[in-house]
Amino acid sequence: MANDYERARLKMVDEQLVARGIKDPRVLSAMGRVPRHLFIEEALRDRAYGDHALPIGERQTISQPYMVALMTEALELKGSERVLEIGTGSGYQTAVLAELAARIYSIERIAGLADKARWVLASLGYRNVAVKIFDGTYGWKDQSPFDAILVTAGSPEVPPPLLEQLKEGGRMLIPVGDRTTQVLKKVTKTPAGVEQSSLTGCVFVPLIGGHGWVAENA
Ligand code: SAM
Repeated sequence: MANDYERARLKMVDEQLVARGIKDPRVLSAMGRVPRHLFIEEALRDRAYGDHALPIGERQTISQPYMVALMTEALELKGSERVLEIGTGSGYQTAVLAELAARIYSIERIAGLADKARWVLASLGYRNVAVKIFDGTYGWKDQSPFDAILVTAGSPEVPPPLLEQLKEGGRMLIPVGDRTTQVLKKVTKTPAGVEQSSLTGCVFVPLIGGHGWVAENA
């Protein structure tokens, strides 16, 4: 069984990531190692390495492997970085980041998801991760500034606190758009100001919070 998952994982890396142009060998190797199926409920595990997002409860999703790879590669991690992640969800993307950077600070607004993610990450031995239950649109001021920031939910704008908490030279990846469809933006802080580029269209669940969207049932 373990070998079946490993085979499916290596096939995912070749057919979904390498084939679509993901090149960073560290990202490919991390995604070849992290057991994605363990971040997903047992009934859906046989679909863990498929080319799609999957439900993780609370009306939230674990992102498609290619989107995880694309966002992670664009962060240009070398190993020494302190990274802020907004939207822990299942904890899978957090684990990929933990393989590639020094310290990961991850924020999730839904306590049930944060607790489950903490448990899985600890059981897999990740010691360089802290998960906080909070509105991530305000960032994690006490631990700032960050070399890289990854937002894994769709936002109406780049939340100003996140921009403030990004180091000069730092990179932020964030889907910006409406509640259902967005454009993945790469925001780089340079001495001359803030640069933005658009990577691809994408579909993320909404970023809910003070600098995000209002909760639908609020
Ligand atoms: N990266 C995750 C994974 O690997 O499973 C998937 C993240 S899911 C697409 C987006 C997550 O963002 C959801 O778990 C949602 O609850 C969370 N979220 C939405 N708004 C948030 C906010 N203001 N602060 C923190 N988390 C938020």
